Amino acid sequence: MPHRKQQLLELLKIHFGYDSFRPGQERAIDSILQNKDTMVVLPTGAGKSLIFQLPALILDGITIVISPLIALMKDQVDSLEKVGIPATFINSSISVDETDSRLSKIKSGFYKIVYIAPERFYNQKFLEDLKQIKVSLFAVDEAHCVSQWGHDFRPSYLRLKEAVKFVGRPPVVALTATATPEVREDIIKQLSLKDPEIVLTGFARPNLQLAVIPSQSGQKLEHILNFLVTNPDLGSGIIYTGTRSKADEVVELLIDNDIKAVVYHAGMDASSRDWVQEQFMRGEARVVVATNAFGLGINKKDIRFVIHHDLPGTVEAYYQEAGRAGRDGIDSFCLLFYHQQDRYLREFFIKGDNPEPRIVIEIFDFILRKTELEIDASNSILVTYAEIAQNLSESIPEMAIGTALKMLEKEGYISRPNEKTSNSFLKAKRSLPEIDTLIGTRSKSQKEIWGKLVDKYHKELETGWEFSPEEVSIVLKIKKDSLLRAVKKLAEKDLVEYKPPFRGTEIKLLKIVEPEEITLDFKALKEKSARAYAKLDEMEGYVYHVGCRQEYILNYFGDMNAKPCGKCDSCSRLEKFKQKGGDKHEYLISE
Ligand code: ADP
Ligand code: MG
Repeated sequence: MPHRKQQLLELLKIHFGYDSFRPGQERAIDSILQNKDTMVVLPTGAGKSLIFQLPALILDGITIVISPLIALMKDQVDSLEKVGIPATFINSSISVDETDSRLSKIKSGFYKIVYIAPERFYNQKFLEDLKQIKVSLFAVDEAHCVSQWGHDFRPSYLRLKEAVKFVGRPPVVALTATATPEVREDIIKQLSLKDPEIVLTGFARPNLQLAVIPSQSGQKLEHILNFLVTNPDLGSGIIYTGTRSKADEVVELLIDNDIKAVVYHAGMDASSRDWVQEQFMRGEARVVVATNAFGLGINKKDIRFVIHHDLPGTVEAYYQEAGRAGRDGIDSFCLLFYHQQDRYLREFFIKGDNPEPRIVIEIFDFILRKTELEIDASNSILVTYAEIAQNLSESIPEMAIGTALKMLEKEGYISRPNEKTSNSFLKAKRSLPEIDTLIGTRSKSQKEIWGKLVDKYHKELETGWEFSPEEVSIVLKIKKDSLLRAVKKLAEKDLVEYKPPFRGTEIKLLKIVEPEEITLDFKALKEKSARAYAKLDEMEGYVYHVGCRQEYILNYFGDMNAKPCGKCDSCSRLEKFKQKGGDKHEYLISE
């Protein structure tokens, strides 16, 4: 065994009590000890801390560790001290005097590791103090915080590039569990890493059985139902849909077919969402039908299947959602139902997220004119998205209007003090018993809700009635969303007249400029949109990929050593082909 390797293993044993390295650790440590910049991408719990803690013991100067998790610093430092590694931390929880005393001990070379909160680098005096210290390694933990594309951007992380220079540009190691390619690129750019060694492993999920199931339009629901009915003992799972209304539709179908299902999306109020989550966690509901609002922080280990009714927008979103299956290591299914037209829904979302600059300008122009006409003491106007939409030169999704307003708000052109809503309206179009019969026995939930409405409000239903969905749902002890869903369905069947609540927004004009003169970072917006389309292409690439699906995903994340999983639909097809005497090359061509 080479000398260095043996020395590392000894330190690992003496200080940390472990007999061997976990995947990725040794390669990362080697790179650090060769004074190279290093980027470590390993899943949560893989053992990233050790990657800077162990070299810190060997290097002669101090190791600075940046972490946003101030609450955890003390624990980390305590446990290091326990294993004989002198360490300390500096963050906003300690006094000025204490900071000074710690800094002088750092200067005297007493500590091997110091944890520092990124906000500290806003302080010039602190930077000057650091200049006098020999720093051997600069470790940036939770490095995705430096990226605007990550899920936890922190502006203070942008200071770190300067901080590294200030302390004499030691080697930098950046660590994260976020494996998306552009977050990775951003980390390299924002921290100015020099030709970094990239250590990325451990994202394979061998117990997941991935498959893409091509479906004609209208067939998906049938296929999904069929899957659930033919696998009654499979356990619980999630069905993701691209829209709230599709989620509502799917859950209704499942309930009508005696499958215990609940629905979850951001259009529901917080208490309903909590209730649904509880039902699912406790196994009362077998299936949760949800939009991508569901899942963060879900800690259910025995999810046996994750079905996607619609195409996700990115590979990382797909893998994150599908990856909620099988946390306990037991075999689980990840099925993606696909129809060629699925792309359009995603493009619709991308357009909604990225309104064209000229549309933003038009919307500002509209607000300007309307404010001039209707100006009152408050200097604000009340509009609905529908009204804005009617006044634009082309039709765009409502979502794009919301995004445009958000952009104008962010740049200080307008503010939106209040969202305004009014009551809904409901009136029966036929006699109440007649409606009951026409609902039909298959639509259980509609029938039940209609029954409750008639019990309490038959007069109102006959004469027509403005109601607050919140109040009625409390009186009837049903969820507001179920109520509105049922009412909407009845209106679609032309059994009732229904007007949804008016939703508008109050807009206050803050800056009066010519619409053409508003300054938004249009170049960055263009880039953002182009990036979204590129990611959608990669997601579609997954659907049409003829090789191993797991391998495709891992390659996408940058793990070029990934091996075929042997169990996805592609791998199984290849296996069958081989059994019939074909080889892999022929298979790939024949597909
Ligand atoms: P991460 O930061 O990657 O989420 P941590 O550094 O917090 O993970 O480590 C997770 C756990 O793994 C810790 O309890 C740590 O002590 C343990 N661990 C780290 N390296 C090893 C190893 N080589 N052998 C056994 N356990 C390890
Ligand atoms: Mg960590």
